[in-house]
Amino acid sequence: MRVLVTGGMGYIGSHTCIALHDAGITPVIYDNLSNASAQVLDQLEKITGTRFEFILGDIQDEQQFKLALKHTKAEAVFHFAALKAVGESTEQPLRYYQNNVSGTLSMLQSMQEADVNHIIFSSSATVYGEPDYLPIDEKHPIRATNPYGWTKVMVEQAMQDVCNANSQFMGIALRYFNPVGAHPSGLLGESPNGIPNNLMPFIAQTAVGKREVVNIFGDDYDTEDGTGMRDYIHVLDLAKGHVAAFMQHKTDTAFHAYNLGTGQSYSVLDMIKAFSASANKDIPYKSAPRRAGDIACNYADATKAKNTLNWHAELTLSDMTNDTWRWQTNYPRGLES
Ligand code: NAD
Ligand code: UDP
Repeated sequence: MRVLVTGGMGYIGSHTCIALHDAGITPVIYDNLSNASAQVLDQLEKITGTRFEFILGDIQDEQQFKLALKHTKAEAVFHFAALKAVGESTEQPLRYYQNNVSGTLSMLQSMQEADVNHIIFSSSATVYGEPDYLPIDEKHPIRATNPYGWTKVMVEQAMQDVCNANSQFMGIALRYFNPVGAHPSGLLGESPNGIPNNLMPFIAQTAVGKREVVNIFGDDYDTEDGTGMRDYIHVLDLAKGHVAAFMQHKTDTAFHAYNLGTGQSYSVLDMIKAFSASANKDIPYKSAPRRAGDIACNYADATKAKNTLNWHAELTLSDMTNDTWRWQTNYPRGLES
């Protein structure tokens, strides 16, 4: 079986291509390379022994996307392609709505016309906004606090509405908590452009000497050590979650949403400590003011995924930090641009 993977050259999409390949499903990658290196294909080949088919294309190009669906005879779409920087989305909201929302709407249109009725979408725990309760289950109210978050809410809504209108259609929204880690081969991982916004790449770049010090955004939260707590999940576990969701709902219709998290949260200090152990060195850090819009703590109730998909996260915090460190030391500047 062949599936089209939009954004398959990116961080989570590329790891999911490996998981699909391992499950006997052939991924065909569709990506505009706006935030990825063409070298990812070589890395995927080194890891899997297979050269994946790659189509250079934009999801906003409805005609090209439809042709890609037909040409590849894809039976489903795994949809990772999106812009993802929260801060940038508040500065350039229309660019985010255009790429993430309009792009997905035209994909959904092409899919219906090409009679491809299955979509697995990268959503985010950001759709829960500030949590009303913890752990967060899928029944938690949906809302957003920034344009990026709204793009996820809007796409989920559009998917639900298409499923309601078309009894053949099946959509799965996977709400990721905090994806981290890298492929254990050290060949593939996350390499953000510029100064990383996210904690794990910032710690990794500090450990390798690219950044001077980790700024801890707030040490007076109502948490065990005062720093923010999150549910970090290894990208390999996340990738397997996509395969599990697709296999479970392959012959199904309607809309389904699942949290993909571990159910456990770690503080910023926990993360620095774990990374220091992996890198076998002290990592400098200092307290800094809270970051606007941050919450004290969140973590998933992933019971629905466990019970329905027979999936749960297996990898540990030291797997996450060891694998990130291996990748960071192998490719301190990321892959070729
Ligand atoms: P990424 O930037 O590494 O990957 C996204 C890929 O999509 C890139 O390869 C980029 O070139 C491609 N792309 C972007 N716009 C495109 C377009 N218009 N047409 C074709 N390709 C396009 O990001 P990622 O971290 O792998 O995230 C994948 C998905 O998961 C995104 O939808 C993101 O919003 C979502 N997500 C990510 C996180 C996270 O922390 N990384 C958390 C929750 C949800
Ligand atoms: N954080 C931090 N310093 C950084 C980046 C992040 O202290 O340089 C904190 C942030 O305040 C939050 C946690 O680390 O408590 C995770 O932040 P990240 O941006 O990785 O994820 P998100 O905010 O999306 O959950």
